[in-house]
Amino acid sequence: MRFQIITLSCATLFLAMPVFPYGALGHETVGAIADMKLAGTPTGAQVTKLLDGITLSRASVLADEIKGWDRLPKGKPKSVLLKDHPQLQEQLVAFWEANPPTKAKGSDAPTHKEFHYTDVPAVDGSTYVKGKLGTEPYDIVQMIPFCVRVLSGAEPETNQRKITKPIALILLAHYVGDIHQPLHVGNAYFSSAGNLVNPSKGGKSFPDHGGNGFNIILTDEKNSKSAAKGDSKSGAKSSGKKSSKSKGNNLHSFWDTEAVVEALDQVEKKIQSQPNSKGKSTDEEVIAWFANTEPTDWKPSAQSKPTDWAQAWANDILPMSTQAHERLEFSNVTIKNESAYGDATEKKMPDGISYTQWSGQRTEEELHKAGWRLAAIIEASLNAKNSEIKKPASNK
Ligand SMILES: [Zn+2]
Repeated sequence: MRFQIITLSCATLFLAMPVFPYGALGHETVGAIADMKLAGTPTGAQVTKLLDGITLSRASVLADEIKGWDRLPKGKPKSVLLKDHPQLQEQLVAFWEANPPTKAKGSDAPTHKEFHYTDVPAVDGSTYVKGKLGTEPYDIVQMIPFCVRVLSGAEPETNQRKITKPIALILLAHYVGDIHQPLHVGNAYFSSAGNLVNPSKGGKSFPDHGGNGFNIILTDEKNSKSAAKGDSKSGAKSSGKKSSKSKGNNLHSFWDTEAVVEALDQVEKKIQSQPNSKGKSTDEEVIAWFANTEPTDWKPSAQSKPTDWAQAWANDILPMSTQAHERLEFSNVTIKNESAYGDATEKKMPDGISYTQWSGQRTEEELHKAGWRLAAIIEASLNAKNSEIKKPASNK
């Protein structure tokens, strides 16, 4: 069902992986769930106005698509990503230029690729603590509230990062998807001997950059084929990271693509097993299932502000990041340029669930929560009272 272009009443979805291979299917699904939840609401009308009619599903992949501009020779005009929306295209270019892929010498200004992830150690009991190992001033947990502040008016649209209200929506549509992918939040660390370690216990350790350094080898052969490259968590840092023994898929890509395909297959099966099912389900039915069924444990706590939610979501997914590593056996680990590379082989687990099936179940839950949370954070941001969301003194 997913290798076609489909039309929803509220959104045109491009769920065709060959067109946008960088984890697009997951992002578009999250965006489409939010589109459907906001359709016909005052917030939905505000979104349509700010995005000049493009849907959140379409907007959700733009933060990855602009990575294509990073490879253009200097001065070469940027490809047009938003043909009939010149003002949005202009704002995207301004955002890219304000957060360029390569840092100027001595500059602590961020690059846009850093905004998609955080590298908190994926170990038992780990939580996101600003300033601690694996966090950065401009990581995903900081950038989501930045976008919330822009949308609420607490941060001026003339900010240094060039995040206007439309760009804030485009980025939120993407980052809320990314923060629900366990390897965009939790990171494995290895000792120089190549063993998985808890870096907070001391000793030198080396990160695997969200699984980008590891080939995943699955018992289930259908998923051990070489697959499309995923949404690289660490951008340039991940280049050249395939092990010399590369025969499988990159662990990060697996979670960006195969786990999403498996999750959507599982939803399709649920729809098909319903008594009134007509057999094969459409994309619209899959999205409607997500949008009309309330996920468990998705709601933010009543006292929290939308600027607090990204941190809560990161902490929510960290145990899954840990399990995503615990279900694998790491071997042939080498350390190169302060990063770990090697093979990650599926372990036989006492629960008898394969890695593919397990990751599909978890990804279904995460896509579901992400869609609902995206709609909720946009609604809360656009309707926040000035007193609710303030610009932190330390953040420019
Ligand atoms: Zn991303």
